Parts: sequence; structure tokens; C-alpha cells
Amino acid sequence: MRFHKDSIETLAQKIYSGELRSTDLVSTSLDTIKQTSKTNAFTSVLEERSLERAAQIDHLTMKEKGTLPLCGIPVAVKDNICTSGIPTTCASKMLENFVPPYNATVVDALEKAGAVIIGKTNLDEFAMGSSTEISHFGPARNPHNPNYITGGSSGGSAAAVADGAVPAALGSDTGGSIRQPCSHCGVMGLKPTYGRVSRYGLVAFASSLDQIGPIATNVRDIGLVLSIISCPEPRDSTCSGNQFVYDKSLFEEKPQTLRVGIPREYFGEGLSDEVRNACTELIDKLKDKGIQFTEVSLPNLHYAISTYYVICTAEASSNLARYDGVKYGFRAENAGSLYDMYAETRRQGFGPEVKRRIMLGTYVLSSGYYDAYYLKAAKVRTLVSRDFDNAFSSCDAVISPVAPTPAFKIGEKCNDPLQMYLTDI
Ligand code: GLN
Repeated sequence: MRFHKDSIETLAQKIYSGELRSTDLVSTSLDTIKQTSKTNAFTSVLEERSLERAAQIDHLTMKEKGTLPLCGIPVAVKDNICTSGIPTTCASKMLENFVPPYNATVVDALEKAGAVIIGKTNLDEFAMGSSTEISHFGPARNPHNPNYITGGSSGGSAAAVADGAVPAALGSDTGGSIRQPCSHCGVMGLKPTYGRVSRYGLVAFASSLDQIGPIATNVRDIGLVLSIISCPEPRDSTCSGNQFVYDKSLFEEKPQTLRVGIPREYFGEGLSDEVRNACTELIDKLKDKGIQFTEVSLPNLHYAISTYYVICTAEASSNLARYDGVKYGFRAENAGSLYDMYAETRRQGFGPEVKRRIMLGTYVLSSGYYDAYYLKAAKVRTLVSRDFDNAFSSCDAVISPVAPTPAFKIGEKCNDPLQMYLTDI
């Protein structure tokens, strides 16, 4: 059995009733991970730990099990989310041997809800990338065709769910890193609204954009996992405390009440025919169900990529200053002076994409350029955000392609960072 068909709720029900044991689910998950290892979705698999935890859950009384919405369910976690006592590498040489002493809030929340963390998943180094090729542990491969990318940076989590190794996983999304790999692997993913989910224990990339979110095979499971990880959290001051309430009746609402906007700009130049046709087909199907569509405009969308790459590199350069060979992880050996130790640690510990972003970010934040780049980008971000506010005055949701093309071949864009960035639109 692979986890493609049953929803989490159904699996949990079977565990409550005794029809299934968590140990069976976890063993299935571990077997599937072994069978699908060519996708390189995992950076570590917690075989012993997860079987022990599953056995503990199986020993609970029926009543105790009934209070756990994720009772005995195996879940995978992106390897930039801290797990106490378990390596959290960010797929970087810099953190290859880093073992956090605490759990991220989302990990505590999952475990409190009865989930079994089965392993950590592959990503682009420090979540910087769109393909999960730029990992210290080698590229993740698309389960549908291993010669193609999974998308990124949460490619390992998306592949693990698409492979049927786990029914749900966590990813993080700064500028598409949940949505795009989920699209390329054919599973569901959600970037929650900023502030909905605590970032405590998420290794920071660009703090004003990073969010943790769920990946699963269906919308109900996404809702269920979101309701658990969006718990209030005093340790992240940007966490709104506005917990999503999982209410089954939400899924029974008549779709006819929805008005959906089609942003003109998303369907213009640069969109591949394959993606355009898939979108048109879907829109037609939804129209048949009675959903109303209306055209909307996001005139500043054109600036989104450049704005994003100014903001995210600036914040990355600041966030990654902490990796100096003293506080965390890797330290270069045989450095002559303190300065050499810092420089050598960063030279050897970071890969080329991370270095590129630190340099770009340091440049846009430097004295004399701050106003011209970072501040300007922050203002343009407000304009882009206002475009969405305006669109939402005439519709409840907008529909768009996730990415301009389907998954591309591994190696196709690796040597051309600009082409890779442009796929993020
Ligand atoms: N592709 C984007 C980037 O490289 C997305 C990263 C992310 O969302 N973590 O920055």
C-alpha cells in the first residue's frame, strides 16, 4: 500500500477503531521510502525513532487515540525545519552536522496531534532555488520521471507525497517553494497567508516572506494539517494567532457561490501552451460546475520577480550572517586568524547559489544603495499587494498557472541562474 488513496482522516479513523496499527503505517512508509530511494527525496530517515513512536501510539487506549487528529500518521518534514536531536541540514555543508536542541513549533504541534515524523526531506540549499538540484545531498528527482526536476525548494517533500511515501509533509515557501514543486509533482500544496503559521524553528531565509505550509494529496488533508500547524505562538512575534479551524462543512459549500478572478497578466506572453491548455481545461470544468469567472488585472505583476529577488537576497544576506564558524555547524580548519576562519568557513560551507544571493543582498543593502534597491523594492511590493486587494474587491479568489512551464529536465537551467529565477513568476 502507498499513501495515495486514503485521506488522513480515514487512516486515523482506522487507527482509532483498531483496524490499522500505526506500526503498520510507519512500516509501509519506511518500505516505500526504500523502494523509491531513486527520487532522493529524503536527507534522513528516522527508522528506529519512528517505529518506537508508532509502538507508543499503538499502546494508547481507544479514548486517548480519539483525541489525536493525526493519530499514528507518518509525516515528513523539510530539512530546514528544526527537529530536536535530529540533524537539520538545510541541504548545506554548513549545517551538515547541525543537530538542533529544540523543535520548531510546527513539529511540536504535529507530534502533539499524534503524527509520527518519519524523516527530513531534501531541498535546495537554504531553500534558495526552484528545482531541488542545488542540494549538498544531490538533486531530488521527479517521481513521475526521474530525469526531470521535482521543482523546489521543497522538492523532497513534494516528491515524498507524490511517491506515496507519506500522506502529508511540511514544506516552506518564500517565493513559491511549496506551490511550484507541488505543481511539478502533481500534489496539493498551500502557502498560508503570512503570519498564519509560526516560523519559530524554521531556518530563516527571507523573514518577511518565509512561511511553513502543508503538502498532501487532497484539499481536506491540507486543511486538517493547516489547522494543526497554525496554532498560536508567542515566540514568533509575526504569528497572528489566527488558527485555521478545520470544519468539514467548509468542504460541502456549494461552489456556485464562488467568484473567481482570472488575472489577465498571468495568461500573457511566456506561458507554455501545455500549461495554458491545462488551465483553460480546468476553468471550463469549473464553469460547468457553475463557478463564475471574471477577468481581473494585476498591473504591477511585471515587477514581481525583480522585487522578490531584491527583497529575498537582502534578507538572506542578513539572516545568513550568523554562519560564521562559531555559532552553528561547520568550521574551516587551519585558518590563520579569526577573520580567515570566518572567511574560509563561509567559502567552504556555502554553495555557489547561496554565495550569489549573499553578495547580491549585501550589495542592495549597502550604504548608498539601500534607498535605491531595498527600500524601492519594499514600496513596489506594496503596489503588487494592492493589486491583489483591488482584484479581491470583485472576486473571492484568483486562479493562475503555478509556473510558466511544466517540470524541466535536471541540468537544463542549472548553469543559468537568471533563467532559473525567471521561472518563479
Ligand atoms: N524559487 C524561489 C527562490 O529561489 C523560491 C524559494 C522559496 O520559496 N524558498 O528564491
